[in-house]
Amino acid sequence: MLTSDIEASWVIVGAGWAGMAAARRLSQLIPNDETIVVVDATRLAEGPAGRNSGFLIDLPHDLNSETYAGNNANDLMQIKMNRHAIDFAESAAIEYGMPKSVFSRSGKITGASTNQGIKHISSYSKHLNEIGESFVLKDAAEMQQITGSSFYIAGLETSGGAMVQPAAFIRAFGKGLRNRIKIFENTPVLEMKTGSPHILKTPKGSIKAKHLILATNGHIQSFGFFPKQLLHVFTFASMTRALSPTELISLGGRPDWGILPADPMGTTVRKISNYSGSGDRLIIRNLATLNQSLEATTADMRRAKSMQDQSFSDRFPMLKDVEMEYRWGGRLCLSLNAMPAFGELDKNVWSACCQNGLGTVKGTLSGMAAAELAVLGHTDLMDNIQLPSTLPPEPFLSIGANMTMRWKQWRAGKEL
Ligand SMILES: Cc1cc2nc3c(=O)[nH]c(=O)nc-3n(C[C@H](O)[C@H](O)[C@H](O)COP(=O)(O)OP(=O)(O)OC[C@H]3O[C@@H](n4cnc5c(N)ncnc54)[C@H](O)[C@@H]3O)c2cc1C
Repeated sequence: MLTSDIEASWVIVGAGWAGMAAARRLSQLIPNDETIVVVDATRLAEGPAGRNSGFLIDLPHDLNSETYAGNNANDLMQIKMNRHAIDFAESAAIEYGMPKSVFSRSGKITGASTNQGIKHISSYSKHLNEIGESFVLKDAAEMQQITGSSFYIAGLETSGGAMVQPAAFIRAFGKGLRNRIKIFENTPVLEMKTGSPHILKTPKGSIKAKHLILATNGHIQSFGFFPKQLLHVFTFASMTRALSPTELISLGGRPDWGILPADPMGTTVRKISNYSGSGDRLIIRNLATLNQSLEATTADMRRAKSMQDQSFSDRFPMLKDVEMEYRWGGRLCLSLNAMPAFGELDKNVWSACCQNGLGTVKGTLSGMAAAELAVLGHTDLMDNIQLPSTLPPEPFLSIGANMTMRWKQWRAGKEL
């Protein structure tokens, strides 16, 4: 925690995927005598950066679409950029000595459990064919060999993405950076005066810095930027207790796997094997709610609990006595036109915020790009971007968006 008044050449606010990438890229671009400080409101990885399902996806992943796909030209450019970001994350994983259980270039599998899901997979595979991306289709037996569950009737595997243990990744990233960079945790920036220098007030200290990068995702609105342009969406997860050896045998399947839903509003499932002695566990993620107050409600948490218990028992009837040990929610930032809150906002102030869902990859990319823009004056990583579009007024926005998401979740049916 920061407990004094300090000065730095550069300050980065937010130590998630964007903040970490900005810090690493900055350290590659600026001379050693320029100091870099990173501050975060919480401990490293306590926020969304460490709470996610850990899929680093290289392929189109438009959450607003029916099948994740967009238009061909845009998707090709996105794939190139996403792979660039995944390579950057991988280079950090190698340099900071992360084991395969923390970062693995394992690709991804999308699973379907209904005829509607199979249709999604077939139109997604058609799109992949059109843009020249290879994939392998899986039948029900192959899906059962992977997951142990007979729930999935088809799947599609691609090889370009990566899977991480997100909290371990962010903590190891922080540790790796600490040789060059000072990181202050539990240090929320409460007030900010931009100028020369910028002055940031925190509960027990302050920072004066010439250059400022904001990597606070949707919280950038707390500093008055992008008002009425950002959607604050929560999604939720539950993790089982450690499975016993007998339960593991009755489950079967591979030790580690992850399945994304064929329907973007369906359920993501991960199985992790005994990371750092924590045991073999299953993790279920689903439900999306819009909470413009930046806080999820108790009713949302209750709904997530009942949906996730149902999704778990649908998939793993052989584990009916296994209860959930942890449940949590976390924030995403989206915009109506899927554009990031990115760029130079003021003199010597840059933003790397609003990742539109795929924050592990887009956050890494926007952090790298913000550092490049700040130091070099240009970046090739963020071509063709526009400002996030203006949202409809309340209460129409929240009512409309939550009704649409509920309808899409209902339509996802058994894919949930
Ligand atoms: C359950 C769940 C599953 C998900 N699964 C995936 C997935 O599989 N793949 C994927 O790509 N994405 C996934 N996401 C989304 C992903 O986690 C986010 O998009 C990503 O974390 C965004 O990265 P970021 O660095 O931009 O922001 P964040 O990770 O939100 O980091 C921003 C940081 O800024 C800090 N901050 C904010 N305000 C202040 C302040 N005033 N002072 C100091 N610090 C401040 C916060 O504490 C936070 O640590 C998931 C999210 C959830 C919740």
